[in-house]
Amino acid sequence: MSNQGKAKLTRRDFLRVLGLGAGAVAVGSITTPAAASPLSANPTFEARRFDNPAGRLQRPWWVRTVDQPTIEIDWAKMKRYNEGYKADLGTGTVRGKGFAAYVGQDKSDELSKKSAAVIKDGILNNVAGYTLKDQALVSAHSTRVEMSFLGPQKAKTPEDFGAPKWAGSPEEAARVVRAALRHNGAATVGFVELNENTRKLIYSFDPDGKELVFTDDALPSETETQRLIPNTAKYVIVYTIQMSEETMRRSPTPLGQQTTGLAYKRHTVIQASMQEFLRTMGYMGLGSSNINALAIAPAFGVLAGLGEMSRLNRMITPEFGPMVRCFVLLTDLPLATDKPIDAGIMEFCKRCKKCAEACATGALSFEDEPTWETRGPWNNPGHKAYFEDSTKCMTYWREVGTNCGICFSVCPFSKKDKAWIHEWVKATASVAPAMDGFMRSMDDAFGYGAQKSPEDWWMLDLPEYGTDSSGML
Ligand code: SF4
Ligand code: SF4
Repeated sequence: MSNQGKAKLTRRDFLRVLGLGAGAVAVGSITTPAAASPLSANPTFEARRFDNPAGRLQRPWWVRTVDQPTIEIDWAKMKRYNEGYKADLGTGTVRGKGFAAYVGQDKSDELSKKSAAVIKDGILNNVAGYTLKDQALVSAHSTRVEMSFLGPQKAKTPEDFGAPKWAGSPEEAARVVRAALRHNGAATVGFVELNENTRKLIYSFDPDGKELVFTDDALPSETETQRLIPNTAKYVIVYTIQMSEETMRRSPTPLGQQTTGLAYKRHTVIQASMQEFLRTMGYMGLGSSNINALAIAPAFGVLAGLGEMSRLNRMITPEFGPMVRCFVLLTDLPLATDKPIDAGIMEFCKRCKKCAEACATGALSFEDEPTWETRGPWNNPGHKAYFEDSTKCMTYWREVGTNCGICFSVCPFSKKDKAWIHEWVKATASVAPAMDGFMRSMDDAFGYGAQKSPEDWWMLDLPEYGTDSSGML
């Protein structure tokens, strides 16, 4: 699980191993077209104009746009999935009631008691990462802006101003929504159009049991049992929010746990802000009624090219690795859509397996290739993936009293330091798969992925939210 105690190579040692005595520029010139080197991109923080009409950000040269995602999808086999566990269907995620349904109520109750005892013991005995101040950080994210499908609906509409709704081309709309979303705190933004296939990625039931129904109604609405989505709301806005690598590398502890809590809390504010933004523009902004509601957001993220699927059975982005949370909004504002990407991430996963080795419970797949075969009813069939055993993962969460995230933090794509070696690892992964195993070894040798001391975190000088967006500028 940890690389602590392993000998650490310096960059100079590494260059010597490769027989490259020169510096980073020489290595970069071998592997990276100089004009597009990610290392030379915008070294200052000056704001730039983008010529792309849809406002798509410039990405590293090794991120290629492709027509199909790097996982196979069988849309004929794919069905709309329910987020909350549905007893009558016998399917649903392992979250909420799903866990007890899959492992049994007695086991679930026993683990819940164990979880509470671990937290209490950690506070009373000052266990690093479990102390009262760590728990207080978890509590800091427990109060959130109320989330809703329809949004706050308090902002003025164009009619209130006596104005027509905003009008522009789909490219202009994409640029405007991207700019607004990033200004409000999103990291990356993409757009997908709903059609007969992609509609299957909208949940059939939300976690609270309400059915999500497409309708010919002109306006969205919500009843006691249903959330009604007009067929005109066919544009998916999908976006990521960064998570702090420094706290995630203190997992599994409450200090590590609040990493996702902070991202979710930020999402509640961003979603409500964008719902009001779209309202004043004159359009719908349909959001998730709760965390993990409305749609399989990472799947839309993959279709929009924000990242690729991975051995984690989660999306990994080129910019921030898996250190993001992904969310969606639906709107009737026509938006220029995006394509999937191939950044070599899925290929790298085939040889890496670092996350599967680091997982204490064996929840992640060790298979060489992704498969159509699911591991249980918590997985949604219809795509090839490295399916995980979610019950093992969730059992571990209860045993340690928090969520986990070790697999995220050890991933070589999580490193946001801009040291040349990591850029090179990422760049090589997309063009020379044969080097992947070697690069994975280098990632280990440099000590990346080792979990860090929770107490040390309180001494760090970190940017806001503990995240770093400089790689995007
Ligand atoms: S640790 Fe390796 S195998 Fe796992 S998701 Fe990251 S790159 Fe893929
Ligand atoms: S989060 Fe789950 S899958 Fe990942 S390392 Fe922890 S227990 Fe394993």
